[in-house]
Amino acid sequence: MSDLKYVLSLDVGTTGIRAVVLDQHTKVHGSSYVKTIPIYPHPGWIEMDPEILWSQCKQVITDAIKASKVPAAQISCLGITTQRNSFTNWNRDTGKPLHNFITWQDLRAAKLCREWNSSFSMKSVTTGAKLAHTFTRASRMKAASSFTFTTVQVSIRLAWIFQNIPEALPMAKAGKLMFGTVDTWLLYKFSAGALHATDYSNMSSTGLFDPFQMGWNDFVINMLSIPRSIFPEIRDTSGTFGSTEASLFGAPIPITAVVADQQSALFGECCFKRGDVKVTIGTGMMMDINTGSKPHASDKGLYPLVAWKIGDEVVFLAEAVASSAGSMIEWGQRFGLYQEPGQTQAMAESVPDSDGVYLVPGFNGLQAPYNDPNARAAFMGLTFGSTKEHCVRALLEAIAYQFKQLFDILKTDVPIRLNSVRMDGGVCRNAFLLQLCSTLTQTPLDIAETLDMTALGSAFLAGLAAGIWTSRDELSALRKSQRVFQPQPLSQAVRDTFRFWERTVQRCLSFDLKGS
Ligand code: ADP
Repeated sequence: MSDLKYVLSLDVGTTGIRAVVLDQHTKVHGSSYVKTIPIYPHPGWIEMDPEILWSQCKQVITDAIKASKVPAAQISCLGITTQRNSFTNWNRDTGKPLHNFITWQDLRAAKLCREWNSSFSMKSVTTGAKLAHTFTRASRMKAASSFTFTTVQVSIRLAWIFQNIPEALPMAKAGKLMFGTVDTWLLYKFSAGALHATDYSNMSSTGLFDPFQMGWNDFVINMLSIPRSIFPEIRDTSGTFGSTEASLFGAPIPITAVVADQQSALFGECCFKRGDVKVTIGTGMMMDINTGSKPHASDKGLYPLVAWKIGDEVVFLAEAVASSAGSMIEWGQRFGLYQEPGQTQAMAESVPDSDGVYLVPGFNGLQAPYNDPNARAAFMGLTFGSTKEHCVRALLEAIAYQFKQLFDILKTDVPIRLNSVRMDGGVCRNAFLLQLCSTLTQTPLDIAETLDMTALGSAFLAGLAAGIWTSRDELSALRKSQRVFQPQPLSQAVRDTFRFWERTVQRCLSFDLKGS
């Protein structure tokens, strides 16, 4: 009789959905992966069909369980981790979505966002907004970033929904609309409509939540005229969320963790202590520092978020984001620079430098330190001598330069001594890129053996609640390094190219003058 205990983790990322069955030693017994299906109805709009997403999730779990040969009845628990800030609204009576998921990369609310943010600057607009500014001035000092709307946050795009879908407001007023981020939608589906819930880590990312008060941000919700009746219950990150409906996988599986993707990766990397940093480079680049029991506010574009809440323990993180990283690698493939991402390293290394070619990574606007949704991407410095290899090198370098910029913000803006920097995410397969990141920041970068920390984090959180693991020390002992990149001396040439790249970025700011 085996003494193995099994945890199922579902990771709904931006590029793909993964389910993994693993045991208490983190040995993977079965896994399955499927690509998500983004929908691009207009330039700058990025959606996902909620019903398709749900069928894909069911399918990957079914396939992972089958591959593991572990009967569903022997799986102790399920942890769900999801991309943040993608949301939908559905009909409380029928369960039918009112609209597709509007994903975190969607720029439809950029104009609205600009209007609200400029109203805060007191230059213009309505008395209401000015009053709002006065009201928030005190809190703005400490919570600047939670009052600067970004298109990434749910808040402003949800306001867009109420302005643009005529049925939304009457339905909400009649108590017939349910709002949910991806986790909430999945909990609703897993429980056959019994649950309308989320956790603190997911909700704290939306801009609808006040991390200083640990509750709904009444001010933002009222200001954007969002009806409160649509919101789910917020629960602890690791705890009880009911079970999957028995007919779905052959036996009910208790759901014992729901956690946002970056928070999950922070937990998976065992960044349990204040000052621990993890960087995930997947579709986007997310740099997170554990700030302990206090949220850290910043006006440089760092977001204070709840990392996890478990009973009385609330841990916060500060996060710096570059929304384009792996998404640029995917774009390069679609553009025909290479057949698959694995080729990028050898191509970049086949040339001594990018020969003056630079890539500005503004495909989705630019985040910190620019915070400009109207920036656009560009290859610059092309000559007739430029080759695909130069362009690929410029593409990888652009990701490394963003890493350097975010890291500098973190170091100067957070008054906490940084401990180790742990790296994960699919792009970390690229040694050329990681070496450059390490050299540019003059910091050792510890690459985890398993690059999929997001799935591991939710497994850890679920397994802790289910008693598979009993302490965080036990989890830390399970973490293995694959490699630590040590910084090479920072040459003048590297310094110069970085500085030149920064100058090329300046030329692409506010590029989309029409707005979107
Ligand atoms: P997410 O969780 O955001 O869906 P992942 O962590 O699974 O993303 O990482 C997927 C990304 O990693 C894709 O954008 C892919 O292009 C990129 N990627 C995979 N292999 C490599 C590689 N060898 N070099 C650079 N990027 C890579």
